[in-house]
Amino acid sequence: MGSAAAGAVALGAVAGAASLVPHSAAMPTAANVKALDQTGGAKASAPVPSRAQAVVTTIPTSWDYSADVVVVGYGAAASCAAITAAAAGASVLILEKAPEVWAHGDSAVFGGGIGVLNNDPVWTPTYLATSWSAEIAKETAGTWSASDIQILHDNFQNLPWWLNSIGVKAHGGHATGNGPGLMATLTADVVQAGVQVLYETPATTLIQNPATQEIVGVVALTGITWNKAYPCDPSYAGGEEINVRANKGVVLATGDYCNNPDMVGAFNCPALYIPTVGGPYNTGDGHKMAMAVGADLWHFADGFEHQWYGFKVPSRLYGTAIGWLPTVPDEYNPPGHSYIFVDQYGMRFTNEERTHNHDRSPLDAYYYRGDNGLAWNARGYPHSPMWVIGDQNYIKSGPLGGPNLAARDPPYTGNDMEFNEVRGVYKWSADNSAEIAQGWIFQADTIAELAAVTTGTDWYGNVYSPDPTGLAATITQFNANCAAGSDTLFGNPTFEGNVVQRPASTLQPIDTPPYYAAELMISSAYAMGGPKHNVSQQVIDVKGNTIPRLFVAGNVGNYEWLHNGGMDNACCTGHAAGNSVAALTSWETALT
Ligand SMILES: Cc1cc2nc3c(=O)[nH]c(=O)nc-3n(C[C@H](O)[C@H](O)[C@H](O)COP(=O)(O)OP(=O)(O)OC[C@H]3O[C@@H](n4cnc5c(N)ncnc54)[C@H](O)[C@@H]3O)c2cc1C
Repeated sequence: MGSAAAGAVALGAVAGAASLVPHSAAMPTAANVKALDQTGGAKASAPVPSRAQAVVTTIPTSWDYSADVVVVGYGAAASCAAITAAAAGASVLILEKAPEVWAHGDSAVFGGGIGVLNNDPVWTPTYLATSWSAEIAKETAGTWSASDIQILHDNFQNLPWWLNSIGVKAHGGHATGNGPGLMATLTADVVQAGVQVLYETPATTLIQNPATQEIVGVVALTGITWNKAYPCDPSYAGGEEINVRANKGVVLATGDYCNNPDMVGAFNCPALYIPTVGGPYNTGDGHKMAMAVGADLWHFADGFEHQWYGFKVPSRLYGTAIGWLPTVPDEYNPPGHSYIFVDQYGMRFTNEERTHNHDRSPLDAYYYRGDNGLAWNARGYPHSPMWVIGDQNYIKSGPLGGPNLAARDPPYTGNDMEFNEVRGVYKWSADNSAEIAQGWIFQADTIAELAAVTTGTDWYGNVYSPDPTGLAATITQFNANCAAGSDTLFGNPTFEGNVVQRPASTLQPIDTPPYYAAELMISSAYAMGGPKHNVSQQVIDVKGNTIPRLFVAGNVGNYEWLHNGGMDNACCTGHAAGNSVAALTSWETALT
């Protein structure tokens, strides 16, 4: 094997990344971003709450906006809460952090599956069979009483009919038009219900009556300046604080915390960067606001879902997982199979064709596996960094990254999901040349040279390369397995996750230079841990008391009750929260 071609070999993704510009990015234009319609009242005088405060405990004497119900966030859960509360006669205001062009979080990019919307008249009763409640009771181990679980059961049971009544279309458990289709229906309903929406208005702080502990409003920011390190960068500066009164209560529907690496680290996977395929503005703000008023927490372990692999460097650059495509092999006709995954030891650690789709099992990508022959304490994450290694046949087989599924799988199925795919943040080049030029894919003429030019980083910024001796041995063994038609390394039932061997049809040798490598990382889809709540969606504090007038809906603090997915939960809990909050009397009425 010869030396690397001059100019073609990328020497270091990290160094190159700082000055990168999007290869082809759909930027929101100013015209797309709806201006704020500040018709809600006079500017507050005193007191002006400080953003440094975790919670504001002085009730403002004047308010910038006022509504019976203030809903924070504008995904499916928020929409369902708003539509329900408005139908019950409440005035409703929605505060959404994102610009309109990027709004609606995970809900706008979800895969379309809403289990309870089978549209089969006999199916719903059988779906939530009598055993459902018993199973939930077992699964949630005393979380709620039997009567609470019965209420939850009935809420799910009624969900299809309610969604149907507000115009949500579905077939076979699949929302028509996936995320964009569902959100088009829900946002039309929100508008029709007369709900006011303020975009680019992040809620930051709850306002709590210190005497009664009631949540009487929120502080939000208007006129913020987006940092815009990338098109959908959720970080901002500046802005003016506004006081928003909630006469009946506040519903936090801010989605999950998947784009907050510190929270992912604290609650799920310490010291690992895990790009999200969901809404980039979901940074756990609702969790923090609820925590600041004493909310207890739950369900972090059982609600963190993984979704496929992402290219780590571009995912970091764009703040959303730039997906590695051949991860749903049965669905998308993957390109050539002359590739493997290796870790810093140059060793394989998983069946690469194992699909990670809504996966919650311990992941090979970041859990120690005894089958690697490493001491248990060799490293916290022996398989991170990890790289995909392939040859010329692999790189020529098509784009390695999303969202160019159309190019790979014509006619395109229209089964869009993931933020990058639906929103078109970054379009991967058809022949991978742009990504090689960017330094996201390393290239070399020999395996030894590839090991030398390939780099990856850990959480702390330490730079690693795959061990050249290990990599050479691994490829030799893999190629021998390809010739034999059996992937002997995996398939040992002792090790969870590796019980399925890579199929013989996918065993194609890595033997045609140039060779390629790119750093990958497993991505997250969504997380459901967060503030504890009762079946009315009212938040419970660390002493076990409800926090008056504070509700959560959707991915904030929920749970995937048995077979029901995240979207079923978002709609069901949003509907429940809307009903609960609308039934309250105004705190001002209660004061007089
Ligand atoms: C790629 C993908 C595929 C999925 N597929 C499925 C599926 O097939 N079936 C299924 O059941 N579930 C699926 N899910 C999960 C499902 O999409 C979520 O559970 C659901 O959308 C959560 O809705 P939500 O309203 O709670 O949050 P989101 O839809 O994420 O909305 C949260 C909103 O809050 C806003 N926000 C955040 N912070 C603030 C703040 N401080 N102030 C104001 N607004 C704020 C965000 O901008 C966002 O608009 C999928 C998720 C993903 C990412």
